[in-house]
Amino acid sequence: MPRLGDIHVRYLKGVGEKRGEILAAHGITTVEDLLYWFPRRYLDRTTVKPLREVREGDEATIVGKVVSCDTVRGKKSRFVALISDETGFVQCVWFHSLHLWKKIIRPGSMFAFNGKFGYFNGLQLVHPEFDKIDTGGNWNMLNTGTIIPLYPSNEQLSQAGYDSRGLRRVMRRALDSYSNLIEETLPEELVRNRRLLPLAQALQWIHFPAKQEELHAAQKRLKFDELFYLELILALRRKNYQSSAAGIAFKNVGDRVRQLIDNLPFTLTGAQQRALREIWEDMKSPLPMNRLVQGDVGSGKTMVALISMLLAVENGYQAAMMAPTEILAEQHYLNIYPLLDEVGVNTVLLVGGQKKKLRERFLGELKDGVAQVAVGTHALIQDEVQFKRLGLVVVDEQHRFGVLQRMALRDKGEKPDVLVMTATPIPRTLSMTLYGDLDLTVIDELPSGRKPVRTVWRPSHKRQEIYHFIRDELVQGKQAFIVFPLVEESEKIDLRAATETYEKVKQGFFENFEVGLLHGRMTSQEKEQVMAEFKAGRMQVLIATTVIEVGVDVPNASIMVIEHAERFGLTQLHQLRGRVGRGSQESLCILVADTPLSREARLRINTMCETNDGFRIAEVDLEIRGPGEFLGTRQHGLPDFRIADLVQDRELLEKARSDAFAVVEDEQRLKQVVARANRYGFFKRFREKMELAEVG
Ligand code: ADP
Ligand code: MG
Repeated sequence: MPRLGDIHVRYLKGVGEKRGEILAAHGITTVEDLLYWFPRRYLDRTTVKPLREVREGDEATIVGKVVSCDTVRGKKSRFVALISDETGFVQCVWFHSLHLWKKIIRPGSMFAFNGKFGYFNGLQLVHPEFDKIDTGGNWNMLNTGTIIPLYPSNEQLSQAGYDSRGLRRVMRRALDSYSNLIEETLPEELVRNRRLLPLAQALQWIHFPAKQEELHAAQKRLKFDELFYLELILALRRKNYQSSAAGIAFKNVGDRVRQLIDNLPFTLTGAQQRALREIWEDMKSPLPMNRLVQGDVGSGKTMVALISMLLAVENGYQAAMMAPTEILAEQHYLNIYPLLDEVGVNTVLLVGGQKKKLRERFLGELKDGVAQVAVGTHALIQDEVQFKRLGLVVVDEQHRFGVLQRMALRDKGEKPDVLVMTATPIPRTLSMTLYGDLDLTVIDELPSGRKPVRTVWRPSHKRQEIYHFIRDELVQGKQAFIVFPLVEESEKIDLRAATETYEKVKQGFFENFEVGLLHGRMTSQEKEQVMAEFKAGRMQVLIATTVIEVGVDVPNASIMVIEHAERFGLTQLHQLRGRVGRGSQESLCILVADTPLSREARLRINTMCETNDGFRIAEVDLEIRGPGEFLGTRQHGLPDFRIADLVQDRELLEKARSDAFAVVEDEQRLKQVVARANRYGFFKRFREKMELAEVG
């Protein structure tokens, strides 16, 4: 039997060579591709409004006939079409590409228009989105319950005859001629258990549903496909990693771990202890650990990582910790070094701008095993870095690194255990997918005595008051950050803002205090020195660009001023705020931003003022930016979905995940599923995108 994935669209009636090429240029090469070109919207009685009911300011879809249209010449030449739907009129106006509209918008033809309705001598739509509809002259078509699919199209496709209407026709033809060739891609028992439509039915109904229930059932089935195959790849990736060779089975807890914990000026939180137990279970097991530790800023992840590294050392192995920035790596080193030194463990630092001699010494110590722990940036994964016996790899702030970098560090040892840490709180289902091949530990408790950071929003003309307030606090021995945004395009301008403020307040407001400046253009030695001064409390005010965003840990700092707060993303604001409130005193975060603010900037700032809860903040951020941008799909290598939505379809995602992980456990079923999946275009695309080499 021929397969839809092998039949070129040009063989469809009415397509042919030339149009086949245009379709192919849009990714529609085979009949299978065509059937997976899903409608972007549907018109029906519930989504189309009669013009009689439309009011100025509404965003709505209407369906109507072109009564008359013409180009109007003048200072602002425009193309105007008068549309009627028998209940009212609307004028549609275009101010450019006049000749183009003239060709498309013809008197007597029927269109669906969508947009925000204005008023100018009657209802008006400027540059509306539109689709040509054919109704067979039946005005009441939508009232009979018909649902019309609208397809994604563009100018090139439209010119080849594939506007929404043309696509509807070719889709109909494809389904009429080939639906008998549609093969089921999911195991039957899954289709049954999850009450899904058979694939052939779903593909019919996604394009031509007769009623809403059919459409929903089709959407559910097709979303499930994508989610299931995504999770199947994650499950396979995890299985491959675990079964390709045995990892290290650590044995000794060792005395020095207890000693180090006893030396700490605090007791570990319940969540930290739980995390350590989970990690230790993994480390004891001969299967390689692949665990994600997720915890809000300040929840004490570094301590957990440190103790895990000491566990590795107690078993005669080395450990390495990679951080995304030099500042962060240096911070970790400064925190970790003395604690490990106290129990006789030797730690080295590897970062980019290091003196050659020092670097060479450290490299030698790692190779000989004289140094047991390495902390660093990407510098750790360079070729000349060699470990004697690397047993544990910690990757901090994972969202800054790709999967490949994680693997590069791992490959410096023989199947070392891997611990990934992230402070970006992600809703659980999403993190399961994003880090789908990792086990998850959540540190959901802050060290006791932490008080939530009070957050306020102030306009910039209140700056004098803000500085007065800061000065009063400094007198009491506190420390403050003043942060400026650094957006790449305007790096120079922003740097100037930070530098100018620094010069000004050093001589003025804060003349009786030590003020420091920190930005990305300084050498690592300069940065290190400023940070050390601030940390030691010899400097009271630190003016910085966002280089301090992650990881800076100065418990005595209790004031965070964020200038141009409207220019920061929500996650970034939360990270920055996390730099204060790390000690036991009350902390304050002041967001400086001037009105008018965009709706989104206002939402971000209000959310910050309302809550300190990282998960709540992540949810809002996700809403604002959508999953693609929030997760940085490109970097994470998640495939683009045609129909599934990782955020909206969370429930379905969980089901798909549990099904996929169950399938992988059962060799027999897995074989069958993979045999089917391999014939499925999506699966192949997903697999390539997610760098899963061989399957089946
Ligand atoms: P994270 O990396 O999760 O943002 P850190 O590990 O940097 O947080 O910890 C933040 C601060 O809290 C550090 O100063 C650390 O020494 C301190 N800390 C860690 N664990 C505890 C604890 N159990 N009790 C009190 N303070 C702690
Ligand atoms: Mg940290």
